[in-house]
Amino acid sequence: MAIRKVVKYGDPILRKKLKPVNFEELAPQLPALLQDMEETCLAVHGVGLAANQIGLDMRLALILIPESDKKDAPLKRIVIINPEFIEKTGEIIEEEGCLSLPGLWVEVPRATEVTIQFLNEHGEKVKVRARGLLAKAFQHEMDHLDGHLFIDHANPALKPAIKKELKKLRPTWN
Ligand SMILES: [Zn+2]
Repeated sequence: MAIRKVVKYGDPILRKKLKPVNFEELAPQLPALLQDMEETCLAVHGVGLAANQIGLDMRLALILIPESDKKDAPLKRIVIINPEFIEKTGEIIEEEGCLSLPGLWVEVPRATEVTIQFLNEHGEKVKVRARGLLAKAFQHEMDHLDGHLFIDHANPALKPAIKKELKKLRPTWN
């Protein structure tokens, strides 16, 4: 078990459309990999972590989200493998951040409600309808699997400010 290094903005793997997972092939290594991803995500207080954020080319991401709205609710782990959107509805603009661009918070539009289909960590095909933080996390992680980043969705008028902010933040990353 180990905390992996999180790949930062500028690394080409964050811009890659990742390869579909062959579940049977991955299954033997999956529990250890998920344990590492969970520890890494917890260590940096993230909501989610996609495989390419630890340098792996596979359509897999992990989300750690509170089980309920209660304060200090335990975290629930959701693993999405080869996910696909079935439906996206509504629009909400909220601030978002990413472990690969630490310190940067930008308002981006997202669907308010999504239905997504994926293989869970046991290889079962499941369909989930989500709103709120989970809907946002699904969209953010799906972006990673396609080589997109949240800043791609920002209003073009904000791009110069984002660029300036990134220049300032970069030296603080390791
Ligand atoms: Zn991210």
